[in-house]
Amino acid sequence: MNDDLKALVRTIPDHPRPGILFRDVTTLLLDPWGLRQSVERMAASVPTRPDLVAGIEARGFTLGAALAVALGCGLLLIRKDGKLPGETIAEDYALEYGTDRLAMHVDACAPGARVLVVDDLLATGGTALAAARLVRRAGAAVGGARFLIDLPDLGGGDRLRAEGIAVEALMT
Ligand code: IMP
Repeated sequence: MNDDLKALVRTIPDHPRPGILFRDVTTLLLDPWGLRQSVERMAASVPTRPDLVAGIEARGFTLGAALAVALGCGLLLIRKDGKLPGETIAEDYALEYGTDRLAMHVDACAPGARVLVVDDLLATGGTALAAARLVRRAGAAVGGARFLIDLPDLGGGDRLRAEGIAVEALMT
């Protein structure tokens, strides 16, 4: 599946900790063809245009912004806590490598809006689920989640689907 794009992802052993095989998408982003194809294929996987694309800091911003432009919708930034200037709501989540907190402006999406969550990689699903919870707390609907890479052995796709979120990734 998308082996041409997969070839552009670099694997870095022992980052950020010994024993972790880090999938580095910066090499794919550097490639003009790879970047365009990633965005176009992601856009083609979205059956109904959402109102907003929610990009998760930081690599989700790059893809999220490009995807929002491709789909013709706005971009919602979901950031690490403490960085957004306005009133925020926040969700704690467990990372593959620790814990963290994501935040979103409380008025970023209108109640009833359909929001597509985007990030570079899906591992345990904790990050994307925290983003989805923020969107739902704001009264909006999660219209799916999209990733460049899914690591299915870590169960994130199953966790998101159990919450009623349609998940697709360009590669596993
Ligand atoms: P999860 O919350 O366990 O699904 O982890 C996904 C989050 O951690 C995403 O925001 C990713 O950017 C980041 N992440 C975890 N593992 C990797 C990796 O191997 N490469 C790039 N990002 C990763």
